[in-house]
Amino acid sequence: MSLSVLSVASEAVPLIKTGGLADVVGALPAAVAPHDVQMTTFLPGYPAVMMAAGKVRQVHCYDDLFGHSARIVKVVDAKFSMLILDCPDLFGRDGGPYSAPSGTDWDDNWRRFAAFARAAADLASGVVKGQHFEILHAHDWQSALAPAYLRFAPGPGLAAKAVMTIHNIAFQGHYPAKIFKELGLPKSAWSVEGVMHHDEVSYLKGGMESAHAITTVSPSYAAEIRSSEFGMGLEGIVFARGDDVKGIVNGIDTAVWHPSNDKNLSATYTARTLGRRAINKRAIESTFGLDQDDGPLFIIVSRLAWQKGIDVVLEVIDHLVGNGCRLAVLGSGDAELEAGLHEAVTRHPGRVGVHIGYDEALSHLMQGGGDAILVPSRFEPCGLTQLYALAYGCVPVVARTGGLADTVIDANVAALADGVATGVQFAPVSYNGLAHAITRTVQLYRDPETWRAIQKRGMKADFSWARSGEAYAELYRKLAGNK
Ligand code: ADP
Repeated sequence: MSLSVLSVASEAVPLIKTGGLADVVGALPAAVAPHDVQMTTFLPGYPAVMMAAGKVRQVHCYDDLFGHSARIVKVVDAKFSMLILDCPDLFGRDGGPYSAPSGTDWDDNWRRFAAFARAAADLASGVVKGQHFEILHAHDWQSALAPAYLRFAPGPGLAAKAVMTIHNIAFQGHYPAKIFKELGLPKSAWSVEGVMHHDEVSYLKGGMESAHAITTVSPSYAAEIRSSEFGMGLEGIVFARGDDVKGIVNGIDTAVWHPSNDKNLSATYTARTLGRRAINKRAIESTFGLDQDDGPLFIIVSRLAWQKGIDVVLEVIDHLVGNGCRLAVLGSGDAELEAGLHEAVTRHPGRVGVHIGYDEALSHLMQGGGDAILVPSRFEPCGLTQLYALAYGCVPVVARTGGLADTVIDANVAALADGVATGVQFAPVSYNGLAHAITRTVQLYRDPETWRAIQKRGMKADFSWARSGEAYAELYRKLAGNK
């Protein structure tokens, strides 16, 4: 029997993206469709979303949603069903989804995402006639109050069951206690079983306490966040929810990420024509002002943040260059890390190149021409760049944590002998850990037969959405009691 699911998120490709969350939310509807799940995606109406949506039709109207007039609209020509909260006062602003053009978070993010979650909960309890959802699937803190509203203050109809997916437990939506009275939740929600966390309001905790099931984006991360090292203060509740917490690894959208038909590449290729990657390598060299040579070209495509271990990259750059390698970095984030990278370019002209900014097309080209990608994350719920790298024959060099540990098979002696290695894993995330991983990668690169075999194996690994789509569909059915 067909199942109707409302997927609630603050970003989704192709409409709006700041990170991996958008890739996942954008790919989910197609991933679950073969399993008879009809997914509707619900997004905030940022200018970019309203513009990309084209023709819309109003399905619900609010005179007063947290003090603002708003409406829920349906996108008329969407491939998969899509609803948007059109509330210009809260979302019709220049800047990013979460921050002003200056880069600082909007002061009223608590209100913006409470209003969004309220509207999601209304949808999931039948506020629109003829539109019934069995499941509400909330993603990350921006949507996490939706399960809390469903539990503590549902709308007029039968409330959907809720799934809460944690894409990154480091971001929790913590606000001072004084906002609680503005949220429209009953007093019973101001408790340790509700949104209260150390006398503050925690959106993510509220979602985790209220959802019928919790998922995160890899089995290793699901295990890690039970500990204080990775749980960021929420390990107690992860632990308490026990088997309700499941790890489902992200897939990649192979319609968007496939080297044989990727328009962003200078040369498309398959596992049989890997030699053509050299054309993309030349294009990267010229884009980044790097010397042209056949030595290993490392790439990084990343938010420039402590989580991603970019500070450790800065420490090992001299070692990397000293080993005859070059490095091309695409990313944006912490000003200090950006400055450190610029400084490395000055120190190593022709060997290190940096492009600060967000550039989807360039990220594809880099995967299509880089020899190896560095992903030295201190924690990584799933990680997508290593999955794209595998599909593109760009060998992933990853920290042994979370989804990175689950998706890359280290080229140790046993794995090489068994012919199963797909990359290099290392620990700890430190100068020694990363420098040693780079040395090992260079040794592998200098053995072309072994290197080719690693590349080809990665390209063959199946990280499409097929398996994960099925796992989500199974979970929805179990919760809906509709096997
Ligand atoms: P996170 O969501 O923690 O940032 P992921 O690896 O899960 O990390 O996803 C990051 C996504 O954002 C990938 O699709 C990656 O290609 C993309 N990305 C990150 N930085 C940039 C950038 N500067 N330009 C283009 N794409 C980027």
